[in-house]
Amino acid sequence: MFTPKSLRRLATDPKASRRKFLLQIEKVKPQPDGIDYPHMKRRDFLQTGAIGLPLQAQAMAQSTPRYNGKPALKITDIQTFLVNAGGRNLCFVKVLTDQGIDGWGEAYSVGPDEATVATIKDFKGWLVGKDPRNVEYLWATMYNFTRFPGGAVINAAISGIEHALWDISGKAAGLPVYMLLGGKCRDKVRVYQGTGGATPQQLAENCKRLIAKYGYTALKMAPHPNGSQSMPWNAVTRAAGQRAEAARNAVGPDIDLGFDAHATIFEPIRAFNMAEAIRPATPYFIEEPIRMENVDALQTLKQKINIPLATGECLYTKFDFRQILAKQAADIIQPDICLAGGIMELKKIAAMAEAHYVVVAPHNPMGPLATMINVHFAASTPNFLILEYHPDDESPRKNLIKDPVMVKDGYLPIPDKPGWGYEVNQEAFAHYPPKPWHRGFAYGADGAPDYI
Ligand SMILES: [Mg+2]
Repeated sequence: MFTPKSLRRLATDPKASRRKFLLQIEKVKPQPDGIDYPHMKRRDFLQTGAIGLPLQAQAMAQSTPRYNGKPALKITDIQTFLVNAGGRNLCFVKVLTDQGIDGWGEAYSVGPDEATVATIKDFKGWLVGKDPRNVEYLWATMYNFTRFPGGAVINAAISGIEHALWDISGKAAGLPVYMLLGGKCRDKVRVYQGTGGATPQQLAENCKRLIAKYGYTALKMAPHPNGSQSMPWNAVTRAAGQRAEAARNAVGPDIDLGFDAHATIFEPIRAFNMAEAIRPATPYFIEEPIRMENVDALQTLKQKINIPLATGECLYTKFDFRQILAKQAADIIQPDICLAGGIMELKKIAAMAEAHYVVVAPHNPMGPLATMINVHFAASTPNFLILEYHPDDESPRKNLIKDPVMVKDGYLPIPDKPGWGYEVNQEAFAHYPPKPWHRGFAYGADGAPDYI
């Protein structure tokens, strides 16, 4: 019987014959801990050809069980809860283990939320019995074995489960999750809130009210007025300029103001017009000035405008963000931790961005748990910029978490308890049953569907 050690020696011995190695590789048996070595058969090796053999062989020989610690910890169940606390549903994910350590996550609400629930149920069959602390292995299990690159539903499901695995890992280790991801690189997390107003005056009032109440040092708003899809273009840009000016005058020169076009402008040249209209207000960034499908168009636009360009809330995983970064198509990326693949995926995306001198301002429109998970990301990520935030100080949002996070002077504290450091209030869920939710509809003046 060959052991991993002797197999490794055989695989790396230049004198070992290929046939001898192929014969022995089939004799490797599952280890006592139940984790199989990679399922590579002799036929697979033959198909790789002589050139592929050395790397394949070394990879197999160097494989070791992914976790040997004691005591063992196994996933026993995965549950999903749709909760409507106003607006869209929140999708909470709970992973249970055989030792009573539960982990919580939040999956993005895409709209057809029952599809996300069904996907998580499907993944459950692949994950029960596995050690939840092998997060990379389980992430690859979900991502790789889906085969087709996932869209919003698949990646939301993966994200929600992934969060819960980290929560369990932190609780099992007795550490906050950020301590498993590199530790703290800041003392608190800067946040901003989105606001609006039907008129420039109302927008200005809302800006002043939020800063007075929460101490924000940054805010975000749509530049275009409501109903802009059916308005003449000059009316849209003129109104955008008035709105930006009113907001700037309301907050003074030193509050950072982001402007979110919500990917509703189709033509890059009109996005450039919009950027020019709001430029006198010295924006912190312009967000999703055009849609996300054409990265080349975004790259061209970025080279023209003189405002930092932010985008990314509709993109998934490191693979989507690779295109944005490789083409230098954004100054700020905005992955969503509930959609892009989870907290580790955001860490990887952030590391890629760091090498391109790009900063990360996570998209965060979901629930209070999502905010907490983002705090762990922000705490441990050097090129974090600022986090989107919705206050959890009023019902029903504040009822969903025991002792929810509160903003102070525009910053969130970083917890020091194990896992996420906050407990989900599962008992409250029954009071807020899910409701059908859809983003809405928007049409041009001629009745044609527009973007929203
Ligand atoms: Mg946005």
